[in-house]
Amino acid sequence: MSLVQMTVDDRQSNESARMSKKREDYLEWSDYFMAIAFLSAQRSKDPRTQVGACIVNEEKKIVGIGYNGMPNGCSDETMPWGREAENILDTKQLYVCHAELNAVLNKNSADVKKCTIYVALFPCNECAKVVIQSGIKEVVYYSDKYHDRPEFQASRRMFDTAGVIYRQHRPAKSKIVIDFSVIDAMSNGVIADMDSLSINSKPTSPAQKPDSTSR
Ligand SMILES: [Zn+2]
Repeated sequence: MSLVQMTVDDRQSNESARMSKKREDYLEWSDYFMAIAFLSAQRSKDPRTQVGACIVNEEKKIVGIGYNGMPNGCSDETMPWGREAENILDTKQLYVCHAELNAVLNKNSADVKKCTIYVALFPCNECAKVVIQSGIKEVVYYSDKYHDRPEFQASRRMFDTAGVIYRQHRPAKSKIVIDFSVIDAMSNGVIADMDSLSINSKPTSPAQKPDSTSR
């Protein structure tokens, strides 16, 4: 047997062993929910701030998703998106529904009591009220860039008083990529399965047949 053949056989046997065990680099729950919050933020029309939120119940089921946007029926084309204007009525502040509010209102369960909300940005005071009043028990946030502003100090005061836990998310993976060009190049992921099929279709001795001893 040549060195090249051995290398190929070794590689196939390593691959075969890998394919018979569970994956180890799967997304952990917290990264998964935070990534969904960030993905939903991509729906936002706000030119400056895109925030998403994902509410999860005690069974790790998603019960609400939201992102910052204008109220239903208020056209994204005609409402103001600027932060500053001579007249405050021409700024977005008075109109935009924050991600946390939308996630709670979009819930597909009877309520969100005892749930955890994953949100890209630490909640403002208005959203803190929504979180508390809806019964959410934990806030997992990514950015805390407005930490020292009064609205956010007020949020912490309310959370601390009401007993809502809050913690900053530390991602296990620094990068989560969905690249459709890569997926297309993999024939929608089928190639991985075909590789393992071709390895499994090699002639095997009776002792190696998976069904010979398992029943
Ligand atoms: Zn808010």
